[in-house]
Amino acid sequence: MREFAFELSVCARLERETAGIVSRQLGGAVAAPGSRILDVVHVEPGPDFDERAAITPETIPALAIEADVGTGRARYWREAVAGGGEYVREALERAVEIGFLERTRRGGREYLRQTTRYTDWFSTITAIENKPDLASPGDLERQLRFDVSLGLVDRVVLATGSYVTRAHLNRIPESVGVWRLHDGEREVIREATPLDSTGWGLELGESRPLRTDVSPVPPAEKARKRRRIAERAYGKGWRLDPPACAHGDVGEVEGASVPYCSYYDRVVDPGECGPSCPGHEPADPPEAEPAAERDRRTPWVTDPEGTKRRQAGLDSFR
Ligand code: SF4
Repeated sequence: MREFAFELSVCARLERETAGIVSRQLGGAVAAPGSRILDVVHVEPGPDFDERAAITPETIPALAIEADVGTGRARYWREAVAGGGEYVREALERAVEIGFLERTRRGGREYLRQTTRYTDWFSTITAIENKPDLASPGDLERQLRFDVSLGLVDRVVLATGSYVTRAHLNRIPESVGVWRLHDGEREVIREATPLDSTGWGLELGESRPLRTDVSPVPPAEKARKRRRIAERAYGKGWRLDPPACAHGDVGEVEGASVPYCSYYDRVVDPGECGPSCPGHEPADPPEAEPAAERDRRTPWVTDPEGTKRRQAGLDSFR
């Protein structure tokens, strides 16, 4: 099975079998952000999940969560966040827009307050690396060693469609769990061993003969990144809209809707659809309701009441 279709089937299966938040293609590095992308991430809800779901269906910008702003007295925004560039301004604007922060004005200044107390709402985070065919492992061993050494997530799992031999198991870190997905079943070949996600981690960098660069990552940095992963997973999910092409369709995997192509008769990544495809015929995408389906099948809430006490204006922070 092609990697993309395999990945969506892993997402749909996890969503069906667990009560968590599933997402895909999220950054999993700290020292060199972007150097490691996790295929699939599963976030288990913690005791404060309902409070988080009540705020917004979107990702709350990390800068807004990390800002020195509480629910009590409003704070002048420039004193709440270090720096004040365009990036900060946009993050705060977004947080007001989605109802996590509210804004008041006094004497020509903008003051911010959180609309509700934010607490980490998640517990276990599992990263799943997909390798449908172990005969073409690519960079698999290094990717798994990276995740285990950093310990950003609580568990790392390899998902494959291949028959798994002892030799395969010997080549990957012992703590990595292994699932085999075949004939509509998920067979647990090996359970994952929990990693030390609250301690120091070592992030693997560039590898040269006889030498691999490593960056020590402190627990606080890991905690920060874990929150960012959980927030991104909550807002993003894993669903994709069907392709904007006359051959674009909605298929089904594990009871979930997935983008489908009637020209190639298979699940397709809409990101790869375009004029370079021989079958491409621009058209409106077929109707799909990814948010409604996600709301129905997961604890994510598409239209929560929100925690804003009143609608704040959308003027820019300057
Ligand atoms: S662009 Fe190509 S792959 Fe995408 S839906 Fe159209 S025919 Fe299929």
